[in-house]
Amino acid sequence: PRALQKKVVEQEAAKLTKQKDHASPPPPLVIQPPEDYDGVGVEYHTGRSLGKGGFAICYEGKHHGKHGVQTYALKIVKASMAAKKMEEKFRTELQIHAKMRHPHIVEFHKAFTFKACTYIVLELCPNGSIQDMVRARLGLSLPEIRRLVVQLCGAIKYMHSRNVIHRDLKMGNLFLDHEMNVKIGDFGLAAVLVSPGEYQGSYTTALSRRTTLCGTPNYIAPEILDKTKGGHDLKVDIWALGCIIYAMLCCRPPFQAGSSNEIYEKAKALDYHWPKRDPDSKKVRTHIPAEVKDLVAGLLQPNPDNRLSLDDTVSHPFFNMHGGDHIPAVLDPSCKDTAPSWL
Ligand code: ADP
Repeated sequence: PRALQKKVVEQEAAKLTKQKDHASPPPPLVIQPPEDYDGVGVEYHTGRSLGKGGFAICYEGKHHGKHGVQTYALKIVKASMAAKKMEEKFRTELQIHAKMRHPHIVEFHKAFTFKACTYIVLELCPNGSIQDMVRARLGLSLPEIRRLVVQLCGAIKYMHSRNVIHRDLKMGNLFLDHEMNVKIGDFGLAAVLVSPGEYQGSYTTALSRRTTLCGTPNYIAPEILDKTKGGHDLKVDIWALGCIIYAMLCCRPPFQAGSSNEIYEKAKALDYHWPKRDPDSKKVRTHIPAEVKDLVAGLLQPNPDNRLSLDDTVSHPFFNMHGGDHIPAVLDPSCKDTAPSWL
């Protein structure tokens, strides 16, 4: 009963936080980056709200530049929120994200302060996140998953080749651009690996920062939980990729549980199950082909050294089922809430 009571209290607190969010005032209609402002209209005009994360609010921002009107995502953080942990997240985000340039990573344009808020100007991803898409669709089709995962692997390979570990890959941090291409975002927990076990960018462990900043860590790799092993490396992103593929299919993460500790225990014991086949299930997919189970098993290897590499991932038989012609070249934005007509 005590656990139940705690849950009720947590739920009520979450509701209250949501109410407060609704009450938070909208940003100024016009935002001027001070260092650029020369009186000739380099400002951003704020538009619709795009969403709220753990510590930031995002709005659309229109910029009337030399090449006509361009629309961006403006990520806004109140300076008063800059407690030590937030500051660290923010600094990491600025330092690491600003250096990333890849077609499947949200483009970072600039950061500045204006009227006691810090603004990050990002590439706009108007179709929400993969998390929104999976929730609306109750799971995605195999061809869609192939397309999204191939793009995602390209971006992770790029990050890893620059020794950047994202450390918070999850469906809510995978955004969709106007053509439904994946864009990795939110580099707030990223780190640069200087040599095995040694990072630049953050000195606190990913685990403690994650739990204080991001809530339930559903995609956490088992080696992060093992304090005796010290650090963790690029392979934590590969574990997260396995969790993402499972969740895209089944609409829930593989080690989902009521508390963080239960999730940790399940991840350590590799305690995940595929849904039982049910031909009558109209909601979630229950027929999971052996190829995708094998791919996820190759990614969710407890020993990081045994996990598939990114090259092995994209050349896995899952991507070559039916002769390899099952990777759609384009995806219509309607797919974010309705199954594609060609299925
Ligand atoms: P936090 O760092 O606080 O977790 P997020 O990066 O998750 O913040 O951003 C908060 C919300 O803003 C996201 O959940 C998403 O809805 C929206 N958002 C973030 N970045 C973009 C973007 N580039 N384009 C469109 N919407 C975005």
